[in-house]
Amino acid sequence: MAGRGIAYSTANPNHLLNVPAARMSADINRPDQFVAWLAARGIAARDWPHSFVSRALYGTYLSELLETTLKANPDLEIRFIRSEVKSLMKKHLGWIVAHGGGAVNADLVALATGNDLPPPIAPHHSKKLRARIADDPWATHEVEKDQDILLLGSGLTAIDVAISLRDRGHAGKIHLLSRHGLLPQPHVAPTPSAPLPQPFPATVLGLLRAMRDRLGRAPASAHWQGLMDAMRPHWPEIWLSLPPHEKRRFLRHGVTHWNIHRHRLAPVVGEYLRRGLADNLHIVRGRLRHLKPAEDGMVATIARGGHVSELMVGHVINCTGPNPNPEKTHDHLIENLVASRLARGTDAGVGLDVDAKNRVLDKSGIAQPSLLAMGALTRGHWWEITAIPEIAHQAQVMSGAIMEYLGILNAAARVNRRH
Ligand SMILES: Cc1cc2nc3c(=O)[nH]c(=O)nc-3n(C[C@H](O)[C@H](O)[C@H](O)COP(=O)(O)OP(=O)(O)OC[C@H]3O[C@@H](n4cnc5c(N)ncnc54)[C@H](O)[C@@H]3O)c2cc1C
Repeated sequence: MAGRGIAYSTANPNHLLNVPAARMSADINRPDQFVAWLAARGIAARDWPHSFVSRALYGTYLSELLETTLKANPDLEIRFIRSEVKSLMKKHLGWIVAHGGGAVNADLVALATGNDLPPPIAPHHSKKLRARIADDPWATHEVEKDQDILLLGSGLTAIDVAISLRDRGHAGKIHLLSRHGLLPQPHVAPTPSAPLPQPFPATVLGLLRAMRDRLGRAPASAHWQGLMDAMRPHWPEIWLSLPPHEKRRFLRHGVTHWNIHRHRLAPVVGEYLRRGLADNLHIVRGRLRHLKPAEDGMVATIARGGHVSELMVGHVINCTGPNPNPEKTHDHLIENLVASRLARGTDAGVGLDVDAKNRVLDKSGIAQPSLLAMGALTRGHWWEITAIPEIAHQAQVMSGAIMEYLGILNAAARVNRRH
C-alpha cells in the first residue's frame, strides 16, 4: 500500500514509533496534524510517555493523508506503478525511466528510495550456511523457536527483530552482537535546554567538549536528551561546515554513540529490553570473525580485543544498519546512476552528493535541476535527514525546486511555440 515504506508497513503493534506523536506530523504547516488524527479516533496521545504509538497506526495515517490529498486535488493525475526502477537515461531535458515492466518518460525525477539494506554477509558463505543467514532484517524469519539466534547489531533494527521473535514465542536465546555492546537509550521527559552557543565548534572533538562542558561528565538522561533535542535543528548546518576528514572521523569514532543517544527508544520498548535482558536477550560485545557450519546451525567466532569466543547459533540475522555507500549498494538504480556518472557519492562516503536544493550532483559536481533526491539518500549532505520531521521539511523545500524547474520548462516551451 502506497505511503508506508519499510518503517510503517509492519503489522506488529509492538513496533512503536521512536519519536513522540506530537512531533510526527507529516505536514509542516500543521504540526498538530498527527495528534489531531489520533484524537479524532479516540486514541489519547497527550500523555507524553504513552504517546509513542505503533508504526502500523502511523502507516494508516500516512495512507489516509495520501488518499485525502488526492481526493482534494482531482486535477492531479497520479499513477502508482509497482515495479523496480533499474536505470535512468537522459532524453533531451528529461529522462527515460526504465523499470521492470517497461519505461516511462519524465521531465523530472525525484529519488526517494529510502534506506538501503545492510551490507550483505550471506554471499560470503557456503550454500549450507546461506540458508541460515538473513541479510534482510525486515523479512519474516523462519527460525526454530528453541534455537539460539545471533543478531548482528544492537540498534533499533535488532530490537525490532528481537520484538518480532518474542511475539512469535521464541524461546531460544537471542544474542545481540555489536562492537561496543551499546543499546539505544530510552526516551525520558527531557529537561528543556538552549542549544550550544554559536558559532559552533568546527571539529567533532570541539563539539563533544562543548557538550560535555555544558552537561558535565555523567549527566542525567533528561539533561542530555534536552540538549540533543535543542541541537537537532542545528546538526545539518554543523555537518555541512565540517571538513571531509572531520566527517570521516565522526563516522569512524563517534557514530555509535551518536546513534544510541539520537535514535532513542519508546519508553515501553526500553522496559521490554530491560525485562528481556533478564531473560533470553544477551548483549555480546565484539566483532564477528567467521561462521562455520555445525550440526543444526553454525558456530560464530567472535573477537574482542585479543580474546576470541564461540557461540553456537541456529540462525544469523543481519541488523547492522543500512548500507551507507551508494557505490556499494543493492539498489540497481543507484548503482547505475553512479556507474553512468549521473550521480556520485559524498566525500564522507555516505549517500549521494546533492546541493542545497537537493539536486543530485553528477560525477563532475554539476547540479542537475531535473534530478532530485531526498531522505536517507541525502544523509551525506544533511546528516540529520532520516526521520519524519526533517523529511517533511525537505519535501516542502523540494516541492519549491520542482515548481521552479517546471516553471522554467513551461516558459521554454512557450518560447519554442512562438518561434
Ligand atoms: C524500521 C524503521 C523505523 C523507523 N521509525 C521512525 C520513527 O519512529 N519516526 C521517524 O520519524 N522516522 C522513523 N524512521 C525513519 C523512516 O525511514 C522515515 O521516517 C521514512 O519512512 C522514510 O521514508 P522514505 O519515503 O524516504 O523511504 P521508505 O519509506 O523506505 O520508502 C522507499 C520506497 O522506495 C522504494 N524503492 C527503493 N528503490 C527502488 C527502486 N529502484 N525502484 C522502485 N522503488 C524503489 C522502496 O520499495 C520503498 O517503497 C524509521 C525507519 C525505519 C527503517
